[in-house]
Amino acid sequence: MAEIVVSVLVDAPRHAGLTPALSYRSQHPLEPGLLVRVPLGRREVAGLTWQVGEAGFARTDELREITEVADVLPPLNADWCALVEFTASYYQRSVGEIALAVLPPELRRLGRAALVDRIRRLHRAFNAAAGGPVASEPVAADGEPALTPDQSAAVAAIGAAIGAAAPGTTLLHGVTGSGKTEVYLRAAAHALAAGRQALVLVPEINLTPQLIERFTRRFAGRRIVALHSGLTPAQRLRSWLAAQLGLADLVLGTRLAVFAPLPRLGLVVVDEEHDASYKQQEGARYSARDLAIWRGRREGVAVVLGSATPSLETWQRAEAGRYLRQSLPERIGGAAWPAIRLVDMARLPKATVGLRAETRTPALAPQIVAALHERIERGEQSLVFLNRRGYAPVLQCGECGWLSGCPHCSAWRVFHKQDRTLRCHHCGLAAPVPRACPECGNPDIAPVGRGTERLEEQLAALLPEARIARIDADSTRRKGTLEATLGAVHAGEVDILVGTQMVAKGHDFRRIGLVAAINPDSSLFSSDFRAPERLFALLMQAAGRAGRDAASGTPSEMWLQTWHPTHPLYQALARHDYAAFAASQLQERRSAGLPPFSHLAVLRADAKTVAVARAFLDAAATAARTLAESAEVMIYAPVPLDIARVADVERMQMLVESASRQRLQAMLRAWLPHLDALHLARGDAAQRVLRWAIDVDPLTI
Ligand code: ADP
Ligand code: ZN
Ligand code: ZN
Repeated sequence: MAEIVVSVLVDAPRHAGLTPALSYRSQHPLEPGLLVRVPLGRREVAGLTWQVGEAGFARTDELREITEVADVLPPLNADWCALVEFTASYYQRSVGEIALAVLPPELRRLGRAALVDRIRRLHRAFNAAAGGPVASEPVAADGEPALTPDQSAAVAAIGAAIGAAAPGTTLLHGVTGSGKTEVYLRAAAHALAAGRQALVLVPEINLTPQLIERFTRRFAGRRIVALHSGLTPAQRLRSWLAAQLGLADLVLGTRLAVFAPLPRLGLVVVDEEHDASYKQQEGARYSARDLAIWRGRREGVAVVLGSATPSLETWQRAEAGRYLRQSLPERIGGAAWPAIRLVDMARLPKATVGLRAETRTPALAPQIVAALHERIERGEQSLVFLNRRGYAPVLQCGECGWLSGCPHCSAWRVFHKQDRTLRCHHCGLAAPVPRACPECGNPDIAPVGRGTERLEEQLAALLPEARIARIDADSTRRKGTLEATLGAVHAGEVDILVGTQMVAKGHDFRRIGLVAAINPDSSLFSSDFRAPERLFALLMQAAGRAGRDAASGTPSEMWLQTWHPTHPLYQALARHDYAAFAASQLQERRSAGLPPFSHLAVLRADAKTVAVARAFLDAAATAARTLAESAEVMIYAPVPLDIARVADVERMQMLVESASRQRLQAMLRAWLPHLDALHLARGDAAQRVLRWAIDVDPLTI
């Protein structure tokens, strides 16, 4: 019997020295995209049959045989395989690593028999839930509102795109509450009516239940599944199978869902497309938004990017006409945009509560306290946010000046008053607060600065009548507490909600009339060129929490406590003029040669010492300069990360930049083998970097 050589991808990093795919023997020809189990060394691992250029070169008598083929699943189609190959090539990883990593872990673990059983159970569950044949028309369901003219225009444009040969990407630009989600729902209805599947991506797991509920209500009788890392392995496998088998009509998920196999895909929505969580920060550092756009183009599927504050990359493409733009300039129900009030801290009288040096209490503008008081009197809710958790960012000794640094990181340990600990937010080191200064024994050690815990305490002292709740990573650590607090807010049992940016995202609060940002300045003068973009987005999003309910008489307002009230960013915010903000930022980026007018990648190196990390990056730079492909690529000097040392590891990075994406890509591809070699060649273990990685299109620099 003729034996056939089949190429199989296994999960192996590029530098493991394995060729992109391994060769195995098979009794039958196997098409690409099939899940298999193969022997690898002494183990048996999951693999995927793959199409490779030069197959069949190996001598079959030396090859091992494929153990099992999961032929109960249809092969992953060519579009999916192409997405994986593109991801690997663009983000400089191995194809095998990407292909296997984006499959549900359970799928890789289970054998054929177990899969047969899971698939049978899935069919049974779906048939029971549907209670009969699935309607072919979207159910004209309960509570479908009549669209506003702007929404109608957007839906018509996206609907036309769904039917077009080259649908392209549409930017749906609208503030919170302008009715974007309603547009997604209608667009999805279009796709479903055409017998296609829709993929809806959201930035946060926390936002999926709300969205699922909304889609479920609208699309009664349709099969909707969630796909994100918060699911149990069994749930995730189930959702994935439903997508791959074409059973699910709608897949809602976070960034990893961009890799969901969807044989009937007809629409991709990326909500809050500017959100940083779409970029994976470890392993393959892919951008799910960018991959969604790539996928849409490859598969001829309409892509909708929604945001109140699009990323400048997206905005620039819309300006250049590469994306269609649909705007929803008004909030539904005519709710007015909150009035933006800037408190100039420099003008507060020095004697004002909290400004006195001897109390060492950070200031809280009396105007804001009075405004909060008024809202409480009217029975309205307020949201006060501060992007720093804990009680105080550092403790200080009044005698010798000792500060509560972390012994393992170049960062302060944060004082948490509730459990009286000093905690490092970078390495996790936690210890009880010392009774006295560890340096000089002085018992008077005091908090400096303010986090959400202290803000909550300050507000409670100034507004004793207020019912205050706090939402941040500390207060919501226990499972269910976030839901409970949000529930209390919705039920009107909370007057003031204090929190970090966690509270600014996505939640649809009905009764919030006032939003206050206590220390927005902290990211105004950051060394990261994207910091203003992020701050503007965050403040717009926070402002969007206010006054969603037009019926609530009093006009809503947003207060900003700042030392720089005339800063153009705040001025643009006050006019809620994203376009002006974007235009000025784009102009700066253009003259500085920054994205989107150039393309960046970062080479990162982690090592036990700065010298080792620097030596690796220096050697990498030297290697890069010998490459012909580096001709039009700038290679910058290595610099430490913002927080250089975390858990006793020194972290450095080196930026490479080019005006041309293709050139940068070509350079990275040529560079990688040198980096692998460099890593292996550098002397004994002590001379080696612990880790190195390339981040293409990095979000933070
Ligand atoms: P966004 O996604 O932009 O925040 P939503 O789609 O959630 O906006 O709309 C905000 C609110 O207005 C929701 O409660 C939604 O049900 C409602 N809504 C949306 N479109 C309409 C419409 N055309 N008529 C009436 N209510 C609408
Ligand atoms: Zn001291
Ligand atoms: Zn630490």
